[in-house]
This record gives sequence, structure tokens and C-alpha cells, in this order.
Amino acid sequence: MTILTKKKIIIANWKLNGNLILIKNLLEKISLIPGYILKSIDLILLPPHVYLLEVKRNLFKKDEIYIGAQNIDKHFFGAYTGETSVLMLQDIGVKYVLIGHSERKKYHLESEKSISEKFKIVKSCNLIPILCIGETKKEKQLGQTEIICKKQIDEIFNLLEHKDETFNNSIIAYEPIWSIGTGQIPELKEINEIISFIKNYIKKKIFPKKVKNFFVIYGGSVNSNNVQRIFKKGGSDGLLVGAASLSHKDFSKIIYNSYYTNKKENI
Ligand code: PEP
Repeated sequence: MTILTKKKIIIANWKLNGNLILIKNLLEKISLIPGYILKSIDLILLPPHVYLLEVKRNLFKKDEIYIGAQNIDKHFFGAYTGETSVLMLQDIGVKYVLIGHSERKKYHLESEKSISEKFKIVKSCNLIPILCIGETKKEKQLGQTEIICKKQIDEIFNLLEHKDETFNNSIIAYEPIWSIGTGQIPELKEINEIISFIKNYIKKKIFPKKVKNFFVIYGGSVNSNNVQRIFKKGGSDGLLVGAASLSHKDFSKIIYNSYYTNKKENI
């Protein structure tokens, strides 16, 4: 499976939220967005696993909106009660898998090693990983943002055999941990600098081959008011949206504002 997009990617991470009514409302409201706007983005919805099929069944434009999972288990099948495997996701038509979200590190003690293993499994099944990386507040204050991102990327490189293909067909979400759910976002300059650092670092690692279909997006307290700022003169290939993706008003506005900002930027 490949991402063949030159569009902006917008990902909705619902986390542990949502129900059948919210799904119905949200999809209905998204369906009111004009086709030319929806065509200009790759829209990916990450509901809780239990609702993946419901979202898929209710997608009005199956070719333009994709579903993804918020996590997977490291095993393909077996005695691992309560888990979901990548094969099951593949079976129901899931295309994307979020990996290494900071909330999984914090509440489920996920290690960098386990994150790399999951990345490898997702790639081995031809699904598209969305790898979250980013620094804590303390690390930012110590000026370690680049070092931390580099370290998290290296963990992935170290585990994969075909290193030059590691990040083909992949998305990295730069999500400063201090920004998630806090309403604080980095300066635009800082976002653009770190995104360009991540892209250059990965390109340098796989020299002389070229990384194909690789995108870096921003996540952390994105809402309809700051989306213009994030995309302005932006190096960001898209957005990972948490809380604001649960409100149909906010989320629709994010989509509209992304479209108009990017249109202006490309003139
Ligand atoms: C997230 O958790 O991935 C996220 C970006 O959350 P929020 O937008 O709520 O900060």
C-alpha cells in the first residue's frame, strides 16, 4: 500500500472517545464539505478499534477518506487477551496505524524498542505507519528537541533490515509532548525548523537512494484558529488533530482553513 499524495494530510485521533451518535454526526457534517476541498486533502480517521468498521461502513466517500488504528499489538495472533493484531486490521481494510503516541508511552509504558517492533510489523504487512515523535517540556527547555527526535528515528532505523526503505510509505508526526492537549503550540519557525530537520536527517541516512512517499506532519493542540499559522510558509505536510477532531464544527473548520491557507500559500 502506498501513499501517493501531494496533498495535505489531516489525521483525526479520537483517542478513547466517541460513540455511534458522534460517528453519525461527524460523518454527516464531513459529507457537507465540498468535494473539491475534500479532494485537496488526505483525510484519515482514527476511531477506537471497536468503531473502525462502523466508520468504514458509513464513509460516504470511500476513496477519499481513510481509516486507521490508534495502536496494534506486536503479535500477529495468539493468547494475548484484549489486543488487536495488524492482520485483523488488514482484514477489515484499515490502511494506517498510529504508533508510539506519547499517551501510550505514558499510560502503557511502551518502550522505544516496542515501538520499533510495531513499526516493523506494520511495514511488513504493507500498511502505513504514522510514527509519533517529539520532546518533553524539559527536553525543549534544555534545547534537546533535535537530539530527541533523532534518537527516536534511530531506534526505528536500527531495527529494520532494509534501512534504505525504512521510511518509504510512512508518515512521521512531530508531536511535542508538552503541546498535546495543553493549548500550547511551538512558534511557527520552530515547527518548520524541526520538520525540515527530520526530513533532512532521514534523507541523509538513506543516501544515495531516495526516500519515497514520506511525509512529516505536525500534531499538538491544533484547532481551527491556529491552523492557518501552522500551514503558513509551512514545511508541514499535514496535521494530527486530537481533541478538536471530535467536534464536527471545529474539525470542519480545520479542513476549510487548511484548504484556504494552502491555496493562498501556493499562489
Ligand atoms: C494527539 O494526541 O495526537 C493530539 C494532537 O492531541 P491534541 O490535538 O488534543 O493536542
